[in-house]
Amino acid sequence: MAVNNTNMVSLFGQSLHQLQELCQEEGFPKYTAKQICDWIYHKRVNDINAMTNLSLKTRARLNEMACVGRNTPVDCQTSCDGTKKYLFAIRRQKEGKETTDYIESVFIPDGERATLCVSCQMGCRMGCRFCVTGKQGFKGSLSSGEILNQIFSIPESEQLTNIVFMGMGEPLDNYEAIKQTLEVLTAEWGLGWSPRRLTVSTVGITPVLKRLLDECQCHIAVSLHNAFPDQRASMMPMQKKYPLHEVIELLKKYNWYGQRRISFEYIMFEGINDDLGHAAELARLLHGLNCRVNLIRFHASPEVPYRSSGERTMTTFRDYLDHQGITCTIRASRGEDIMAACGLLAGKLKG
Ligand code: SF4
Repeated sequence: MAVNNTNMVSLFGQSLHQLQELCQEEGFPKYTAKQICDWIYHKRVNDINAMTNLSLKTRARLNEMACVGRNTPVDCQTSCDGTKKYLFAIRRQKEGKETTDYIESVFIPDGERATLCVSCQMGCRMGCRFCVTGKQGFKGSLSSGEILNQIFSIPESEQLTNIVFMGMGEPLDNYEAIKQTLEVLTAEWGLGWSPRRLTVSTVGITPVLKRLLDECQCHIAVSLHNAFPDQRASMMPMQKKYPLHEVIELLKKYNWYGQRRISFEYIMFEGINDDLGHAAELARLLHGLNCRVNLIRFHASPEVPYRSSGERTMTTFRDYLDHQGITCTIRASRGEDIMAACGLLAGKLKG
């Protein structure tokens, strides 16, 4: 059970089962856990006193030992294309002192779709060479409440149609919190969303990916970026521990038709991974897998010595893959003026 800085239990982010255990420990009526879920996830209240169908005695006891635990963003930058980057403060007690770190979420409106890209860790342990977050090191993982808070506490929360776990951190390096977040988002006592509205991204931590495939029905996006093992290892150190071909073999064991969507993210770096030799190796690797490839322009950052491939190179790469029977799209660049690239977040954390 997540406990916040004041040693209060945070109700937000808890599963129905966890709340049932808490209610049982406190001697509350059995149905109280479901009522709390209704208040925090359906009615979206952030105050125990607002839970008016709980007895005064139950509310008084809850107020002594718990809080809902939602927090609004501390800052927001808006791009000229309508993309918004929200900054959330994450407070922790370390050696008796309160520390504050910041994480980002990116809201991307696009016609009838409204997607939020959420963070799951403060920093990241994966160390991808092209990523500002990876360069900042790792400061800790977020709880399910802190991940869900990003979804529930932005002004556009009720407009959201899709969530992508592609912000700061590697979701499968924080699997229990991600799994619980997915449960809250899809359970009838939570938001009741279809898992098809949720996409979890990963560099490909094979044993945990297998658990995700077995336990959740959400879409999967693998950060691929280079199909040649040695070159990928020089960009993404985790390739050495979890080789891409093992990730692909695992994915091929699952039947994707009519089920979840599997996609591969491929950021295009000028002169690094963008020639037709790379496209041919990628096509060879993905042969036989029902999937799509998203080509992504690199958002340049002063901290990273890479440049994006040009328009013509990307189009040629896409056409080659299309010709090989692989569905491939060039993802529209969003929020470049506020450095909002999902998976490449952070950059200028304040505080
Ligand atoms: Fe971590 Fe993603 Fe950045 Fe790699 S790209 S270091 S997995 S946040």
